[in-house]
Amino acid sequence: MAILELKDISKSFDGLKAIDSISISVQQGKITSLIGPNGSGKTTIFNVISGFLRSDKGSVFYREKEITNFAPHKIACLGVGRLFQDIRIFPKLSLLDNVLLAKKFQLGENPFISLFFRKKMNCIEKYNLEESISWIELVGLESKKDFLAENLSYGEQKLLSIACLLAGDSNLLLLDEPTSGVHSTMLKSILKLLRQLTEQGKTIVIIEHNMMVVNEISDWVMLLNNGKLISFGLPDEIINDPVFEEIYLGV
Ligand code: ADP
Ligand code: MG
Repeated sequence: MAILELKDISKSFDGLKAIDSISISVQQGKITSLIGPNGSGKTTIFNVISGFLRSDKGSVFYREKEITNFAPHKIACLGVGRLFQDIRIFPKLSLLDNVLLAKKFQLGENPFISLFFRKKMNCIEKYNLEESISWIELVGLESKKDFLAENLSYGEQKLLSIACLLAGDSNLLLLDEPTSGVHSTMLKSILKLLRQLTEQGKTIVIIEHNMMVVNEISDWVMLLNNGKLISFGLPDEIINDPVFEEIYLGV
């Protein structure tokens, strides 16, 4: 079943077609990799899906509901979580506070409820705390939950960002280069985590440059070039296709 569908999406910047009539369908519970040379339109696709950019044409459907050009917070509330190419966490807060803050619809944000339903609030806060700790455990950072986020390694900060997406109840995770700049041990942890998440029913779309990672982790691969979808298939089919070599090596 498709959890996400893009139908005939285009987006230009000053006449340059960053994405050109793209139609794709993402299968629920699977890992789909978006690959292609720099500037081929991968991040623009994520920006259009998550509402950070308005498309010029076409439609986006999430769980069969049209979400084209919805505001980013609305799309996030529906369960579409986005990991940015650059890390976006609060460096001066602890890991635990970062994850707690990522949780949506916190009742305590309503002063009326905080004042008059103190007991209930305490119960909810306890639940939120336990749940946040469980996300931190899932990404393997439990021993550092009280550290300031700025003291984590780059790879650990990426893991923390994933924990924040999970705390925000994301079901579809759009991960823009989650393994770039990460050393090999941490890379293995990230890949293991991604596989574990799909086993728990999450769907992942990943932008990835490392073809070893693409081959190892993807159920499906989409190859882009110059804003167009060139091919879609199993990892070996795409990587061994002469078109792949032509695009990457220009031969
Ligand atoms: P990728 O992620 O595959 O490297 P991008 O989607 O970031 O590619 O970019 C696709 C093309 O669109 C590039 O030529 C890039 O320069 C251009 N582009 C992307 N975002 C913007 C923007 N906000 N303003 C102008 N041009 C942009
Ligand atoms: Mg990019």
